[in-house]
Amino acid sequence: MSDVPDPGHVAILGGTTEARQLAAVLAACPGLRVTSLLAGRVSTSGGYAGTVRVGGFGGPAGLARWLREHDVDALVDATHPFADVITGNAARASAEASVPLVVVRRHGWAAGPEDRWHVVDCLEDAAAALPGVGARIFLTTGRQGMAAFAALDVPWFLVRAINTPAPPLPRHAKVLLARGPYTVEGETALLHAYRIDAVVTKDSGGRATAAKLVAARNLGLPVVVIRRPPVPDGLTVVPDASAVMEWLSRRPGLLSLMSGAGDTCP
Ligand code: NAP
Repeated sequence: MSDVPDPGHVAILGGTTEARQLAAVLAACPGLRVTSLLAGRVSTSGGYAGTVRVGGFGGPAGLARWLREHDVDALVDATHPFADVITGNAARASAEASVPLVVVRRHGWAAGPEDRWHVVDCLEDAAAALPGVGARIFLTTGRQGMAAFAALDVPWFLVRAINTPAPPLPRHAKVLLARGPYTVEGETALLHAYRIDAVVTKDSGGRATAAKLVAARNLGLPVVVIRRPPVPDGLTVVPDASAVMEWLSRRPGLLSLMSGAGDTCP
């Protein structure tokens, strides 16, 4: 029998920059193996360090089964702040499989005194607010959120998404496929070029897509901001990858495996 302990197994529910960065850091820890779990909705250019599994689990029971079958020691939910179904599933699966869970939620954006924000609760409320806000809209709510705007006849939309948006799309729209990060200069030029008079965004937070807010502020444009869904009560929520590392380093089973791994591991 070998004295070498089995590597600890950390699974990361991903689909975000944080998830990719976390996978890279954890994969560099000699005592750990890392599996990134992806829905498979968006192409993953750049790749993930460690093992990657693509596809859903058929609900929380399926995720719990997968966690048990793959001897997962810790589950990190590093999904997008608006991916609330998988976060709910992760909470239930973690309890069912007795696998500790930490949720990474980057901070949301905050309006400054010069911002003209209309904060709403959901995509449908954003669509309802638009007729009074603008006529040429920069819509950046992601490829799956189009249906809420499809029935509107008046505004014209510049829709930007990473992958082709799922139908139905707004009636009058141009689709721009692009992936951040974006710059203030680039966003300002885009708003000018398409004579945009209002922006619609989710409160995704983070730096990669924040430039549009600065550009809108500089141009005095209104922004309809969709509030985040709440994280289920009772979960451990941290703001960034370094706090996840800190949390992982305090898990009794992982501590010894992660220690002594150099600068990249706590
Ligand atoms: P969602 O509504 O919360 O989840 C819907 C279903 O998709 C889940 O029930 C699950 O299927 C599957 N799923 C979601 N994330 C998964 C993951 N990381 N690994 C395996 N299965 C996953 O999710 P969503 O809003 O469609 O987002 C899908 C993915 O895109 C997430 O990974 C998220 O981080 C990323 N993303 C979302 C947004 C956004 O605005 N929502 C923006 C950028 C990136 P089963 O129930 O079958 O397991």
